Amino acid sequence: MKIAFIGLGNMGGGMAANLVKAGHDVRAFDLAEAALAAARENGCETFTDPQEAVSGVDAVVSMLPNGAIVKAVYTNDVIGHAPQGALLLDCSTIDVATAREVIAAADSVGYAMVDAPVSGGIAAANGGTLTFMVGGTAEAFARAQPILAAMGKAVIHAGDAGTGQAAKICNNMLLGIHMIGTCEAFALAQKLGLDPQTFYDISSVSSGQNWSMTSYCPVPGVGPVTPADNGYQGGFATALMLKDLKLAMEAAQTSGATTPLGDHARAIYEAFAAENGGLDFSAVITTL
Ligand code: NAD
Repeated sequence: MKIAFIGLGNMGGGMAANLVKAGHDVRAFDLAEAALAAARENGCETFTDPQEAVSGVDAVVSMLPNGAIVKAVYTNDVIGHAPQGALLLDCSTIDVATAREVIAAADSVGYAMVDAPVSGGIAAANGGTLTFMVGGTAEAFARAQPILAAMGKAVIHAGDAGTGQAAKICNNMLLGIHMIGTCEAFALAQKLGLDPQTFYDISSVSSGQNWSMTSYCPVPGVGPVTPADNGYQGGFATALMLKDLKLAMEAAQTSGATTPLGDHARAIYEAFAAENGGLDFSAVITTL
């Protein structure tokens, strides 16, 4: 298949390389020359004009920083420039309203489009083990599935347009909340004279057990190897957690949902990100 890939940064670079490995002919566009150079090394054909990159393709995949950029790229360079039958897949994490707006604009001129944000970081993007949460019609999902499967271990249909983004931000709001809760429990346990390993051994088989504790423990030397064991380097940056919590709070406001803990998690991560945006989000334990 001929696939245009727009946005070959930390995530998109590895994803495009996996499409090449799966036998696709990948036409890459990014504003950064360094990203294009890396894409060439991974077997992509590179372009300095996005409209040229999308010409004659069967599908367009994008992995971009935010909703404003996604809207501008699709409005200016993809819709009306990619062939009519091309399937459009946006894998960026963006707000639900913009995702729905761009998909409606594409649909109004005959393109099938899905929002397909991911769970999993740079290692999963490189390793082809992302989870995709896909919003769009059943027909568009059926066409998107094999393309996304070449970049991930799970491809799940969430529902209509925008529900992929909804799943992503609800999941990450919950993650932000239970990470802070887990950090608070370890900090309190220690203050009460409980050894962190002993608390882990008890809580990990009791009702406090959760993913932040047993798969991503914020305490160095406890549980599996995590960013905590590497000075909180790598992993999922605090700045990206804050981005997702802000998107969740925006969505809560527009939909009238009540999310007091999500809002509190946003405030805690906002304060922490001011100085530590590049550290893994589990490093929030160092503030407790
Ligand atoms: P990044 O900043 O590393 O990559 C974004 C790329 O887009 C850059 O190479 C940039 O040059 C390019 N770009 C920006 N504007 C462009 C334009 N107009 N046209 C073409 N290219 C343009 O970001 P990333 O970490 O790869 O994240 C991409 C998306 O994936 C974001 O929406 C992010 O929230 C989401 N995400 C990231 C992670 C992660 O761990 N990094 C995990 C899950 C989801």
